Amino acid sequence: TPLPERDAALIARRSAALGPAYRLFYEKPLHLVRGQGVWLYDADGRAYLDAYNNVASVGHCHPRVVEAVARQAATLATHTRYLHEGVLDLAERLLATMPAAIGHVMFTCTGSEANDLALRLAFEATGGTGVIVTENAYHGVTLAVAGASPSLGAGVALGPHVRTIPAPDPATGADARFAAAVEAACADLLRHGIRPAALMVDTIFSSDGVFAEPRGLLAPAAQAIRAAGGLFIADEVQPGFGRTGEAMWGFARHGMVPDMISMGKPMGNGYPVAALALRPDLVAGFGARARYFNTFGGNAVAAAAALAVLDVIETEGLQQNAHAVGGRFRAALAALSHRHPAVGEVRGAGLFIGLDMIDPESRAPDAAKAGRIVNSLREAGVLISATGPQGHVLKIRPPLVFSDSDAALFLDRLDAVLTANP
Ligand code: PMP
Repeated sequence: TPLPERDAALIARRSAALGPAYRLFYEKPLHLVRGQGVWLYDADGRAYLDAYNNVASVGHCHPRVVEAVARQAATLATHTRYLHEGVLDLAERLLATMPAAIGHVMFTCTGSEANDLALRLAFEATGGTGVIVTENAYHGVTLAVAGASPSLGAGVALGPHVRTIPAPDPATGADARFAAAVEAACADLLRHGIRPAALMVDTIFSSDGVFAEPRGLLAPAAQAIRAAGGLFIADEVQPGFGRTGEAMWGFARHGMVPDMISMGKPMGNGYPVAALALRPDLVAGFGARARYFNTFGGNAVAAAAALAVLDVIETEGLQQNAHAVGGRFRAALAALSHRHPAVGEVRGAGLFIGLDMIDPESRAPDAAKAGRIVNSLREAGVLISATGPQGHVLKIRPPLVFSDSDAALFLDRLDAVLTANP
């Protein structure tokens, strides 16, 4: 079906007003006007099953979060240079979900800022500037973290102090060599006169193609960076807040304790709030010399939003839901894959799932087919996207309120779309 004239007009207005750097999802972009739970509605009132948006993690427009934001916005909206319980309650609640070594939380508005602050503090604490990331990592938009985000492509230069290592893909054996790759990158940095400051890792390797196994993998990697004088920064912006099912944070599946932990996206269910949690000693020197004030970071409304999100995760058992529904959903996807030769491996943890699209004969990654599936699913009323260095991995990452019947609907539509695109 052709693009409605109204949407074509919006696209023209976008490029006129927003300029050329923005990208829309889907060949036929979506014009959304409303969301509720796992459902999104377009301007014509058509419903779409959202199996992609992790920001609205406790469900689109969750009434409890909406009410908390509205109530606080109507009461007081100030920043962290006044005394207020909200930001303290939030910091304490977050720290209670973390290993004992992590003792402070610093608030930002975006995941990018949290990662930027992590690098800044890592440089301060270690005296180094070397940063190691995975080959298709994404860590954000600031100058420092965009330069450590190879997934932005050849058009965005990596920093001269940045080294990349292969993501732990079991298909290439890179999983077994992950810690050795960290060691080698450290040696390469040192050889160029650069002291290692940090290994920054998205703990489920979201943009590298979703690698959840083998668990335990990150522990020796952390040892390797520490042995070279650097720190381990866990980027929990995507896996955090219960998504991986077994734990609140992705690193916990690997039985290790990071030096710093960045978080964002789902933290306020749509309200911009993000943070960096860290070992107190890592900010002691910086705190004595400098001040950190982020105008909107940890503001009273942001704190209210994030506290409501933590309440909902707990009272609705959403981490447990991610574990239970995610486990059954992945098993059903694996079963489906046996009937469709263009579907390769199904990977993931909890409600964070990656599914390879491959050429049935050569078994090579098939990004074109992944694109067709994503766009056909959108036509069929189901929203996902694709990821990985080649873009051939279907990325399935629904709000954590996703139920078994939502999964059944998804499987039904995916089955039909795969049958139509053999
Ligand atoms: N890290 C990861 C792993 C992310 O996925 C993102 C956002 N896509 C960021 C950092 C940056 O977060 P933000 O867009 O809130 O700045």
